[in-house]
Parts: sequence; structure tokens; C-alpha cells
Amino acid sequence: MRGVVIHAPKDLRVEDVGVPLLGADEVLVRVAVGGICGSDLHYYHHGGFGTVRVREPMALGHEFSGVVQEVGGDVSHLVPGMRVAVNPSRPCGHCRYCAEGMQNQCLDMRFMGSAMRMPHVQGGFRESVTVHASQLVPIDDALSMAEAAMAEPLAVCLHAARQAGSLLGKQVLITGAGPIGMLSVLVARRSGAARIVITDVVDAPLDLARRLGADEAINVSSSPAALEPYRIEKGTFDVLFEASGNQSALVSSLDVLRPGGVIVQLGLGGEMTLPVNTIVAKELQLRGTFRFHEEFQLAVDMMGRGLIDVKSLISSSFPFEQARDAFERASDRSQSMKVQLVFRGADT
Ligand code: ZN
Repeated sequence: MRGVVIHAPKDLRVEDVGVPLLGADEVLVRVAVGGICGSDLHYYHHGGFGTVRVREPMALGHEFSGVVQEVGGDVSHLVPGMRVAVNPSRPCGHCRYCAEGMQNQCLDMRFMGSAMRMPHVQGGFRESVTVHASQLVPIDDALSMAEAAMAEPLAVCLHAARQAGSLLGKQVLITGAGPIGMLSVLVARRSGAARIVITDVVDAPLDLARRLGADEAINVSSSPAALEPYRIEKGTFDVLFEASGNQSALVSSLDVLRPGGVIVQLGLGGEMTLPVNTIVAKELQLRGTFRFHEEFQLAVDMMGRGLIDVKSLISSSFPFEQARDAFERASDRSQSMKVQLVFRGADT
């Protein structure tokens, strides 16, 4: 059984990995489709991000779908052949934050394809994986395996929207037109936002954002003055979803947020310098957002019912044996939105 394993920066190998054992409360899943995320790219290019570093070989991947192959003895609600989205998040269920309903802050989290803990939690870019039965969400017949693999990033954006509060009738600014920014456009539109403006420094994703329903898509590199009109009366936007992790995107947005505006920081930007005086004087509210919990099920439901359509975000797919080519393609933002790997479970 093979997997896509990171050993060190730029050392990504398709190699044999152990056949997973099946516990009584677990399910063996034949992987179908896996999406390459920004954090996978960080492992690929830099061996990690922030203080997180790959310290042993780790299969990447935490956005994936598959087919139930075999169930453990205690599992009765899933049967072989079921098509599922796999939730990569496995909170412990009994620590203080799990007890408070903040499972995404679990003290003993096992998140697939993450090097945060030792030994690392192996990811979903493997031909088969075993996961706890609670991590599987059956998908609607109308949903493709490729769409189901988008449930994880969509769940991230649904959680971010929850952090923002009601978007009904709001003026929304989104900075960064990668997959998270793009899904945030879809979520904000579905949540009743009155106006959605998205910014980036690359044209291709902005063109896609317009097709997905953004009211205005601005290249702040080639049109640096385009946000100027939004500075009137101390600022226009009620909510900012900052999805670029770029300091200048966040800082320049402060001038176009209205007093009392809410900033939801999705992008991981490391160390940033902020004009705190502006945050104080305009009574801006800076909020973090981290992963998701119940939003994973919601993401699968919304896609299955046709309320959110992610198909146009999937820009290309590669057989998993060509993972290196896929990671290089995913690194080129002029050509790529979401790049996915296809495994044999996709034939089912
Ligand atoms: Zn916990």
C-alpha cells in the first residue's frame, strides 16, 4: 500500500506505507480523492510552518473522500461500499474544551496529516486509511468524490463565518483569493451578505471570484487605489475575512472597515505588526478562527443539497503517483485554485 510521504523540504515520495490495522470502533477507507491544501504546500516547500516541523516521515493530506472498505466489530451504521467524506479531525471528547463544545481547541487533538504532535498523525494521501467511525460522513449520491474532498476547507470557512456573526445585509471584504477566500465568497453569499468585495494580487483567481458571485474583485497590486472609495465616513465594510496571511492586506483593510467592524483572521501570517491605535479608535474586533467541528457535517449537507457548489474551484487533478507534479502545479497560483490527487477509490 502506497502513500504520498513528506520526508524533508522538497523531498516528497510516493512509497510503501504500512497497511493500517482495524480497531473495533474504526473503519478502513479506500481513499478516492485528496485535495492539496496550503499547509501541505508549506510542508512540501519548507518542511512545516511556524514552530511546526516535520520530524519523521509523514503522509500528507487532510482534505479527502473515499469508500468504506471494511468496518470494525463495534461499527453498525456504516457498511462497505458507502461513499464518505472523511473528517480529518479527531478530538478526544473529554478534555475541558471538548466538554465546553470547543472541540477544535481539544487538548489531545489528533488531526490527520499534521506534524503538531509526536509521533505525527499520518494523513489521508494513502491508498487506504483507518479512521474512527465518527470521522466519516456519508455523502449524497449527487456529490462527486472530488466535491466531497472539499468538505474540509468549506468547513473551515463555515466556522469562520460563525466567528463573524450574522452576515445578513452586511458589507463583506475578503482579502486573499485562494481556495479559502473563494469558499468564503460562496459562504458569505449564501449567508445573505449585501455586498462582497475580494482582493488579491493575481488576476486569474479574481476572475474566478467574479464568476462565483463576488460583486467586485480587485487586484490591489495593479489597482492600488481601487479600495479608496471604501474609506468614506470612517470606512464601509462591516466584516473582513482575512484569508491571505499577508500583513499589508490586513493593515490596509483597517482603513476601509467601519467603526465596530469585525475582522476574522483566517490566514496564518506568523508575526505581524498592527496599528493598534486604529483598532482601538475604531473599536474594531479582531477574531481568530481555527479549523472547525460540527461545521464538517454542515459542509457535506450544504454541498449535497446544492446550496454551495464547489465544482468550479477544482482546477486540476493528478494520479497520486504524480504527486510531485501536482504539488508544483498547486504552487502556481496563476494556474491553480484547488489541485487534487486521485486514488483508486475514485473508481468505485
Ligand atoms: Zn478534547
